[in-house]
Amino acid sequence: MSCPRCGSTDIAISGTETLTFKCKKCGYSWTIDRRNYAIVNTPSGPVHWTVYTYYKELALQDAIDMIMSNKDVDTIIEELKKNYSNYLSEDDIRKIVEKARKIVKYL
Ligand SMILES: [Zn+2]
Repeated sequence: MSCPRCGSTDIAISGTETLTFKCKKCGYSWTIDRRNYAIVNTPSGPVHWTVYTYYKELALQDAIDMIMSNKDVDTIIEELKKNYSNYLSEDDIRKIVEKARKIVKYL
């Protein structure tokens, strides 16, 4: 997501019925109808993309924590499946663990 006017990706989100985005760089704001916007299919049904992204971020943070405490990959995948399988597919979870391992390498 980037500002349609200046291209900045530093964007604030607000609003309930419609989502309002505001560019923090140039101040431009625009709205989209929340009901029609970017629904993601998950194992427990369609959810708004912000929900999906939220769970992906949480799962990534959990994966990083578990890698830091030296849990093995299979254990991490099992733990994440237990906590996030309503929203994330096994494929998503494997990708998240891969990403977490790369992040930890550079910490
Ligand atoms: Zn802008």
